[in-house]
Amino acid sequence: MLSNAEIGIDLGTANILVYSKTKGIVLNEPSVVAIDINSKNVVAVGAEAKEMVGKTPQNIVPIRPLKDGVIADYDVTAQMLKEFLKKVSKKMGLSMRKPTVVVCTPSGSTTVERRAIHNAVSSYGAKHVHLIEEPVAAAIGADLPVDEPIANVIVDIGGGTSEVGIISFGGVVSCNSVRIGGDKLDEEIIQHIRKQYNILIGERTAENIKIEIGYAHPDHKEETMEVRGRDMVTGLPKTINVSSSEIYNALKESLQQILEAIRATLENCPPELSGDIVDRGIVLTGGGALLNGMKDWLAQEIIVPVHIAPNPLESVAIGTGRALKMISKLQKAAK
Ligand code: ADP
Ligand code: MG
Repeated sequence: MLSNAEIGIDLGTANILVYSKTKGIVLNEPSVVAIDINSKNVVAVGAEAKEMVGKTPQNIVPIRPLKDGVIADYDVTAQMLKEFLKKVSKKMGLSMRKPTVVVCTPSGSTTVERRAIHNAVSSYGAKHVHLIEEPVAAAIGADLPVDEPIANVIVDIGGGTSEVGIISFGGVVSCNSVRIGGDKLDEEIIQHIRKQYNILIGERTAENIKIEIGYAHPDHKEETMEVRGRDMVTGLPKTINVSSSEIYNALKESLQQILEAIRATLENCPPELSGDIVDRGIVLTGGGALLNGMKDWLAQEIIVPVHIAPNPLESVAIGTGRALKMISKLQKAAK
């Protein structure tokens, strides 16, 4: 007989990952869905839908239902989740019947939002659904000893939000979530190019600029990049050269706000745990941890050691999957 599957879902604002206990990461796609507004049908999900952003006819709209870290549109989120679970099912075959699912929810999410996530997954036929908080999943996925009575500080910089959590003895001691992440950085780049050059660029281009020549640290080797957009005066396509120092200036303020969230959490830390942080430092995860110079800049600002998780884009999904083992252990113990 086939055993029931156990899967973990990282419901991220930018990317959704599904982790299976037996197969590892079985899905990793952008949290985007393209909808035909006339028929209300889902036209595409994930990578295929992200490819369409900024390029579709008027009746087809790519939507990011989790964009700001909240479930802006419950129906669309549920439809998107269903399509992804369908894909996972196909990949995993029969072993996906009545799975036990652990879903990671943003720490700032409300009871209503958490219930909405729970319902969307249950309605797909999951046998058990457990929700765990993002900082806990991120810390487990980053190999931190969350069960021990020591301060594990995790900073998860995602698309829509950045979350800072201190975890000790299996639980969240203190945490902070700000609605600033990679999306805000992209937005700042779009605004800068528009103001400085009178040129409009799309979200994808902005993200590429950020990844290529975006820096968190003012001291870096100057780089330039060729960027194409639409001239707002002539309406024609135009190519310009953009430098890393001007992008640094565009990102500076948002990065400062993430830094403030980290500072505030560290200041809220019980004194007994503060000593641990001085020794052990903090761990960065989420796609934003990959911004050039992030680690060195933060280490300089908060004066404690800063480490980057082994796999920043996957730690939450891996942690969610591993949490499953802990949950089933607890359940067995309770029987
Ligand atoms: P979420 O958990 O909210 O879905 P992720 O942890 O998947 O978010 O991170 C997505 C964000 O990370 C996006 O804003 C993306 O642009 C950003 N990102 C990914 N790779 C890099 C990189 N190399 N440099 C800077 N930002 C990056
Ligand atoms: Mg995330």
